[in-house]
Amino acid sequence: MTARTIDGAAIARSTRASVTERVTRFHAAVGRAPGLATVLVGEDPASQVYVASKRRLATACGFADHHRLLPSDVSQAEVARVIEDLVADDRVDGILLQLPLPVGLEAAPLLDLIPASKDVDGLTTVSAGLLARRLPGLRPCTPAGIMRLLDETGVPLVGVRAVVVGASELVGRPMAQLLLERGATVTIAHALTRDLPAVTREADVLVVATGVPGLITPGHVRPGAVVMDVGITRTDDGLRGDVAFDAVSKTAGAITPVPGGVGPMTIAMLLENTITAAEMVMAGSMGDLTPGRA
Ligand code: NAD
Repeated sequence: MTARTIDGAAIARSTRASVTERVTRFHAAVGRAPGLATVLVGEDPASQVYVASKRRLATACGFADHHRLLPSDVSQAEVARVIEDLVADDRVDGILLQLPLPVGLEAAPLLDLIPASKDVDGLTTVSAGLLARRLPGLRPCTPAGIMRLLDETGVPLVGVRAVVVGASELVGRPMAQLLLERGATVTIAHALTRDLPAVTREADVLVVATGVPGLITPGHVRPGAVVMDVGITRTDDGLRGDVAFDAVSKTAGAITPVPGGVGPMTIAMLLENTITAAEMVMAGSMGDLTPGRA
């Protein structure tokens, strides 16, 4: 068997096309472009690349670009002031604080200055609470993008066994909650999990977000399983995922490549969250964004 390769780049393109249509309608109705603010602190090379991609694709969809670049020795209070200014700016519909921050700055209190209505990364304490309580809110982009890939691929979720490897607040935990919300039976594995292959072999849907390149081999995968690889590690041979793609492709039923799988969807969902945030302001409420289902 050779797995079907899930084309994240193509699904991201069609997601951005529908975002662009919504941006055009918003612009015509409100008389301004919806705005995305990206806050980049310091000179981390990967962060520079990510923020540049986010700004380029946002601009291509018709968003106004409100970028703030701050030096790595900036104080916590100064970053807070910049975020507070963006919160107060009616032209800014979404605020993204690029992580990680330089050593010495604390991310959580800065993220929590962003109101849920502008939290297009879905990472604040309030947004995490809304997700945990299954209340409407903006969901973290990478897990939301994986849900979209699963839906577009026609993968059933009700009653299936899903295993998420990785328990971070950015990916693993919200991923597990979104799968649970859709009726999957979810297990979260992590660095302390004993006998990882035995756990992951249970999965009909396996999501891997560890940052350990090549961690998942055919022995970890039930034949026919759907494998979503979140990992991105820069190596001398280019970008590598957490899944040994060539070998696992012979066992899995469907699989995302790295690059060109989950990565493009993360940015597409950021843009979708931003137009959703703008539309909610236009409608005067947070609205019924994502009703819980399970
Ligand atoms: P993290 O370091 O915050 O968390 C990693 C998790 O993996 C932890 O819960 C840890 O317990 C677990 N883990 C580590 N080694 C393990 C092992 N040997 N076996 C089982 N579990 C193990 O990382 P993160 O922020 O969640 O990111 C994970 C990866 O996903 C990274 O490569 C990151 O670059 C990538 N990422 C990609 C996207 C994207 O858009 N594709 C977005 C976010 C993160």
